Amino acid sequence: MELVIKGKTYNLPIFMPDATHATIKGVDSLDLAATGLKGLVTNTYHLIVDDAVETVKLTGGIKKFMNFDGLVITDSGGFQAMSLVRRRKNAGKFTEDGVMFHNPHSGKRLLLTPESCIETQIKLGSDIIMVLDDCTHPDEKMSEQEISVERTIRWARRCKVKYDELTKNLSPTEKPMIFGIVQGGNSKELRKKCFKGLQEIGFDGYAYGGWPLDETGLLREILDYTAKLIPDDKPKYAMGVGKPNDIIECYKMSYNMFDCVIPTRDARHGRLYVIKDSKVETINIGNERFKDDFTAVDSDCECYACKNFTKSYMRHLFKVGESVFYKLASIHNVYTFNKVIEKIEALQI
Ligand SMILES: [Zn+2]
Repeated sequence: MELVIKGKTYNLPIFMPDATHATIKGVDSLDLAATGLKGLVTNTYHLIVDDAVETVKLTGGIKKFMNFDGLVITDSGGFQAMSLVRRRKNAGKFTEDGVMFHNPHSGKRLLLTPESCIETQIKLGSDIIMVLDDCTHPDEKMSEQEISVERTIRWARRCKVKYDELTKNLSPTEKPMIFGIVQGGNSKELRKKCFKGLQEIGFDGYAYGGWPLDETGLLREILDYTAKLIPDDKPKYAMGVGKPNDIIECYKMSYNMFDCVIPTRDARHGRLYVIKDSKVETINIGNERFKDDFTAVDSDCECYACKNFTKSYMRHLFKVGESVFYKLASIHNVYTFNKVIEKIEALQI
């Protein structure tokens, strides 16, 4: 599938690492472009808290601000509302109007409403805007999931009204897409209700929202069920997915957009991804067995790190805590995740 946004074509499937604060730790946008990376996801809530929104707007948008030319999605902050407000007492409040956060820097109240969320994402100038959703954890009780779904639909409608108002005079080369987020926890009935409600409002694409995992791994049944609700001519975004094997599984369910912090977070912990015999494995570069291993992390990998440095040297950099390790390891992992997407049809789990 191809997505044409603001006059530029993006091919799906696509993997986008999370650049929450308009950056990925240890690597800059040119490093990322050199890995062949096609897109990334940044975050409305974090950029508000960072006091960066007006500066980004003045620069001409997030892509110019970061000097990154690929697809940029802004997540709405709904997930942060769940993890920072819903799951913690006294950290903020949900009302019908929106979510009230305590700004961790200034201590001031920060109210994110469906309307202000869309307005902020338009200022940020991303390619794909995500609606503000009432995100839940799958282990929350059914009555909470029901409230979340109803509110998610009502907020999505308000988001769409604001989006239509703010984009009605934009040309196709200026107009971003807007995606709905399907909530409903582990309940098929609620996922269906949520999707149908969103479909009635009408969005350019649809995302699976909420945690896609529990302690045992991927929530396969509900992910698969939700994917099948969404028509195949719409992009299907599995938010927060994930590790390469989870991406491969979700792709088989018909999802074609993925984002996660994993490649760079794992890189910082010395976990490097390697494609071997059509499977994706990890190695711990700190392992003693790599002390005198003078081959590349992945001999088939053409990334900057693998072309220039050995496992032995990478292990040394990791052991001494050298910041250049984080850069090299992140470059390698992001490159490998791109390869996973390129070769996804041939890969097995
Ligand atoms: Zn590499």
